[in-house]
Amino acid sequence: MQVTEHVHAIKIPFSLTSDSGMLIERFVYAYLIYGREVCLVDCGVASSEKIIFDYMKKTGRDPQEISLIVQTHSHADHIGATPVIKELTGCEVAAHSDALEWIEDPDVQFRERPIPNFDTLSGGPVKVDRVLEDGDVIDLGEGMAIRVIHTPGHSNGSISLVLSPDHVLFSGDSIPLPGDIPIYDNVAEVISSLRKLRETGGVKLLLSSWDDPVKGDDVYKAIDEGIDYVKRVHEAVLGFSSVSWEKVLEEIGLEGVPVNPLVVRTFEAHLKEDVDIS
Ligand SMILES: [Zn+2]
Repeated sequence: MQVTEHVHAIKIPFSLTSDSGMLIERFVYAYLIYGREVCLVDCGVASSEKIIFDYMKKTGRDPQEISLIVQTHSHADHIGATPVIKELTGCEVAAHSDALEWIEDPDVQFRERPIPNFDTLSGGPVKVDRVLEDGDVIDLGEGMAIRVIHTPGHSNGSISLVLSPDHVLFSGDSIPLPGDIPIYDNVAEVISSLRKLRETGGVKLLLSSWDDPVKGDDVYKAIDEGIDYVKRVHEAVLGFSSVSWEKVLEEIGLEGVPVNPLVVRTFEAHLKEDVDIS
C-alpha cells in the first residue's frame, strides 16, 4: 500500500513454530521508496522477494530498478530475502557497522542469538557494500535523502531512518510495542535510543517493522508508550523473575503467551545491568 508520495509498505506474513509445536502467526513490514531508482528498507523473511517483486510489478515498477537495500538491522526476519534480491538485481546493501557480522555470517548470529525457526527465516549470508554510521546521509536523488540514526538496544547495529522530504521515520524494531512481546538485548540502550527518536522533530509518519503505520501526534505517543513499556517490563522483571517468567509475562499484560527464548533474553537483559531508567 502507498503511504506517502514515495513510500510503499508491504506487510509480509510468516509463521513460527513454538517449542510446544504451536503455530505463531507474525508479520514484518518491508518498505519500498520509489524515486528515480528504488530503495528497499529491509527485505522480510526468506522468499519474500516474490511478494515484493509482485507488488512492484503491480505498481508499474521493475524489480531491476532496485539499486539499494538499507537494513534497519541484522535479524533474520529482516534480511531473509536480501541475498536473493541482491543476486537478482545487482543492488547494493547498506547496514550499520555493528550489524555487519550478523548479516554477513548468519551462523554467528544463530550461535549468539539462537531463536526458533532461524533456518526458515534466514536466507543465508550476504555481503554489505555500504557501511553506515550515525548521522550518515544517503542521497536517493530527485531531492530525496535518508538520514541514519543509530538506535541500538533491540540489537547492536539497529538503525532508524528519516526520509526527506516525506517526513517519514523508519524505526525497524527499535520501538517496543505494548501488548507484543518485548524483544531487546540492552535495556539502557533501548531507552536512550527511544529518547533520541523522541528528539527527532517533524516526523509525520512512523513506519515500524512490527506495527502498522502511525500518523501525526501519535508518532511521538508511540515512542513514549515504548519507553513506558520498557519501564513496566523492568518493574515486572525485578518484582517477579524469582517467581517465574510466566508471572512476569502476566504482569506486563501478556498472560498465556508462551515463554520463548526471545522473551527470556529480554528479561535477562533487565537483570544483567544496573539500569537507571527513571
Ligand atoms: Zn529484530
